[in-house]
Amino acid sequence: MIIAVIGSGLAGLTAAALLVKEGHSVTVYEQHERIGGVTATIEKEGYKWDWGQMLIPNFGEGESGRKILEKLGISDKVKALKSYRENYFPDFRISRPKDFQGKYWRKEFLQELFPEDAKGLDKYFKIYDRIHDVSALLNKEGFLSKIKLFLTFLPIMKKKEWSAQKLMDYCFTNKKLQAVFIAILADYVASPEVFPGLIIPTINAESQYDERVPLDYGRHQHRQSWSYIENGMGTIIAALAGFIEGKKSGKILTNTAINKINLEDGSVKSVLLSNNEEVEVDLVIASGGAKELYLDLVGSEHITQEFIKTYIDPLFTTESVFMVHLGVDYDPSIYQNNAALCYYYFTYDINESIKECQKGIYHEGKDGLLVYIPSKHSPEMAPPGHHAVTVYTIAPNIPTNGNWKENKEKWAEKLLDIAEKFIPGLREHTKTKIILTPEDFKNRTHLKHHAFGGTVPHVKVPPPLHKTPIKGLWFIGGQSENFGGVVSAMVGAESAVNMLLKDY
Ligand SMILES: Cc1cc2nc3c(=O)[nH]c(=O)nc-3n(C[C@H](O)[C@H](O)[C@H](O)COP(=O)(O)OP(=O)(O)OC[C@H]3O[C@@H](n4cnc5c(N)ncnc54)[C@H](O)[C@@H]3O)c2cc1C
Repeated sequence: MIIAVIGSGLAGLTAAALLVKEGHSVTVYEQHERIGGVTATIEKEGYKWDWGQMLIPNFGEGESGRKILEKLGISDKVKALKSYRENYFPDFRISRPKDFQGKYWRKEFLQELFPEDAKGLDKYFKIYDRIHDVSALLNKEGFLSKIKLFLTFLPIMKKKEWSAQKLMDYCFTNKKLQAVFIAILADYVASPEVFPGLIIPTINAESQYDERVPLDYGRHQHRQSWSYIENGMGTIIAALAGFIEGKKSGKILTNTAINKINLEDGSVKSVLLSNNEEVEVDLVIASGGAKELYLDLVGSEHITQEFIKTYIDPLFTTESVFMVHLGVDYDPSIYQNNAALCYYYFTYDINESIKECQKGIYHEGKDGLLVYIPSKHSPEMAPPGHHAVTVYTIAPNIPTNGNWKENKEKWAEKLLDIAEKFIPGLREHTKTKIILTPEDFKNRTHLKHHAFGGTVPHVKVPPPLHKTPIKGLWFIGGQSENFGGVVSAMVGAESAVNMLLKDY
């Protein structure tokens, strides 16, 4: 088959590599001059930074991301490094202890801080273990596993419809303690009132905060691992692109956008490229934005109103980010417990902060930011003795309190002012700097509304489907998943490929 893949991010490259492996003739079309989408590692003056990815789940042995690389025979090219992240709140810091304090050390630490919610913490961690068992069983084949899945899920089945806020109110009375578990929703720009409660334990996996927390314990199912990718996300991109271009039937074209998908009798017929060339194809596998795909590339006249009403109009995506990359000549990690990553939260009112962002108000760093030092785990990402540092925060695509172009420098300084309160000397030691605004992310991704985490899980809104209503058109990538992320983009692409191979 002749297949056009739209986009050379992780989703597009994964799909293309798997299809090339099956002998199909595949061309990846990338509008940008460089491949990789938001996972193309950036380089300047000997420093390397990612576009924002940090801890990645499911890249350990036997896990879904790793298995895809193994299937392609490129697993040896991508090394996952287990590590941890710190969390700072205005009244306390949750720091990985020097000596391991057991798999539930965070629970015990929080029970001391919030004795009034000690029982609630026991309750939460029971749900936590059950949810992680359910997640593992969901990925297992076989009748016995399905029975186990049902029996494990049964006691919490009623909570399936609960929002994150409901789960928090069920477990904890103290809002500060609630914030420990729901602060991460600021990343999704999703109110705890609409975010599914049972996903909260999954996105707060304990091994993120301490890599010594075992992934196998008691009679529980294996927990997913979290790791950094050695030398940055670009290594996965290079491995996938190397595989595609190493085969005769695989090709990647940069600086080439697909501007239109032409149909004949309701089926895909050809794609129109940005150089006005029309290429006949049997299949199109599109990553990128759902609205851009259905409304611009295909055209709403080819889709039913019902589909638009169910999947496109209510599409709920994240917002963007504002990011400052620095190359520094000292080790800033000493100020954050030697951690490569620390989230700094300055408010407990996560919902209010999320609402402001949804209204377009950029918080200028006052609600929180994170500091990521990739060269801490991958020294090759900076010259010897130096470090690559990324300071960033969630930001609206179109701020109502000033535009990105005019305020870029001022807002970068504000972010660094705040970061320096925790990491002294950051600016004094800066050798080089790159500022990335939501506008840069839009250009990088070809999206009208940049959504850094793709589609947000929502108690009422389904994500767009891989198999589209148009014959020969498949949708993959961050906006086709309910759980935007590196591995879900890859695994989603793999499952779309498996489905379409069955169909043709
Ligand atoms: C700041 C940030 C931090 C993140 N942190 C994490 C993290 O810590 N952990 C984690 O697991 N995930 C994280 N993610 C999410 C993860 O990186 C993404 O979900 C995933 O990489 C998306 O891959 P993709 O292929 O769907 O999209 P992209 O990487 O956006 O790739 C899409 C590509 O398609 C191209 N394209 C689009 N339309 C067209 C067209 N019409 N013609 C030609 N080309 C086109 C774009 O140029 C782009 O290159 C983060 C993302 C960001 C931005």
